[in-house]
Amino acid sequence: MSNVKSYIESVKDEIQRRDPDQTEFQEAAFTVLDSLEPTLADHPEYVEANLLAQLVEPERVIQFRVPWQSDDGKFHVNRGFRVQFNSAIGPYKGGLRLHPSVNLSVVKFLGFEQILKNSLTGLPIGGAKGGNDFDPKGKSDSEVMRFCQSFMTELQRHIGPDLDVPAGDIGVGAREIGYLFGAYKRLNGYQNGVLTGKGLTFGGSLARTEATGFGLLYYTNALVKAQGDTLTGKRIKISGSGNVATYAVQKATELGAKVVTVSDSNGYIYDPKGIDYQVVKQIKEVERGRIREYADRVASAEYHGGSVWDFDVDYDIALPCATQNEINKDQAKLIAKDGAKYICEGANMPSYPDAIAVYRDSNILYGPAKAANAGGVAVSALEMSQNSERLSWSFETVDNRLQDIMEDIFEKSQAADKKYHLDRDYQAGANIAGFEKVATAMLAQGLV
Ligand code: NDP
Repeated sequence: MSNVKSYIESVKDEIQRRDPDQTEFQEAAFTVLDSLEPTLADHPEYVEANLLAQLVEPERVIQFRVPWQSDDGKFHVNRGFRVQFNSAIGPYKGGLRLHPSVNLSVVKFLGFEQILKNSLTGLPIGGAKGGNDFDPKGKSDSEVMRFCQSFMTELQRHIGPDLDVPAGDIGVGAREIGYLFGAYKRLNGYQNGVLTGKGLTFGGSLARTEATGFGLLYYTNALVKAQGDTLTGKRIKISGSGNVATYAVQKATELGAKVVTVSDSNGYIYDPKGIDYQVVKQIKEVERGRIREYADRVASAEYHGGSVWDFDVDYDIALPCATQNEINKDQAKLIAKDGAKYICEGANMPSYPDAIAVYRDSNILYGPAKAANAGGVAVSALEMSQNSERLSWSFETVDNRLQDIMEDIFEKSQAADKKYHLDRDYQAGANIAGFEKVATAMLAQGLV
């Protein structure tokens, strides 16, 4: 084994020894570490400084109790987290997730991914993530408000416009950000740069709602174009029907492709005529309903229970936009069998490592989450810029910047892939390009 390889293995062993039960974090960290071999071989100073050991250990982990009262008068306690992972290139930045599956391992995996994702955007933002195992589904607006106020009562000690700037993620949309912002303001005064994804009447950025889904399509378009191919006329399978999925459907349709599925954790819709994103928006954003209702409104659509990744139908591009580990090895084999040539990830870590191996073996070109879904955090950083200058940019200005950033991310990943002769491994390319910037900053700042 080369020195570099054995160094990587020793860092992995240490993660395994310290946190044997953090399976999601291990999955994210090991995938990145394995792909850094070429750049570590090229930069012995990274190994000498033991940079990887610093990279995989969060600068700070905060865990706290969040008590709240439901409408029936009962008292409840949920568990809150904020992991401030790395501030080498800017203040901590990353979303908050509200979902029963949230635990320290999930928040660490998301925070770790955020370091290199934020670096890839080219903007000055460090990596963080937070969340809570509270389930907003089925709760009344006043229950969500009381929960958000309690959550922020503790979180506010640890965040600030130049320190740590949270945003949304699963279960955290405009309603939750509004309540969180109100609670922060009551305790600290009006500082509109402390959260992003805010409403447009109090410092939010135009195009932030659309950013992750639109950005996913800008990235996918760049990847497809680089192969001399086009999105026009392509059939696309999308999972999820939340924020990312909805705007991915819209942009894919606008770019001339046809999206044939959307889903939620209960089942999926198949519409061979193409999913109508206006209907998805009405059901999910206005009525807060379930995706099965789509089939009651659109004659050409069918609803089925189960995972969309077990549904056997021909298509060209897969865009997973629901959650982590939604595609296993067998489902990846079905993606290959169904003829897909590209998979780009809107969700964070939707593919198990052995599914990614299947993509590679089947010549499916793979755009990893940290590159393909960076549009959300990129526009969040643009929201911070607008808040600092106390100005609001037009939708077109933000959308154009987003498009440039996503194309630049693809180009950086492609350049690293070419430099190290990785044969269109855009996952390793993204990891290396993101890492090199963070590593340079960490080395310059010394052992801190
Ligand atoms: P939303 O809460 O708006 O939507 C999540 C969607 O995924 C829903 O359709 C939900 O269905 C589905 N889903 C959640 N858990 C599961 C599960 N276990 N199995 C199947 N489906 C599931 O979240 P977002 O759209 O904001 O986020 C989706 C993904 O994109 C996440 O991985 C997130 O980290 C990532 N992401 C989001 C960004 C953003 O700007 N919002 C930025 C970058 C990444 P159901 O309603 O049944 O739970």
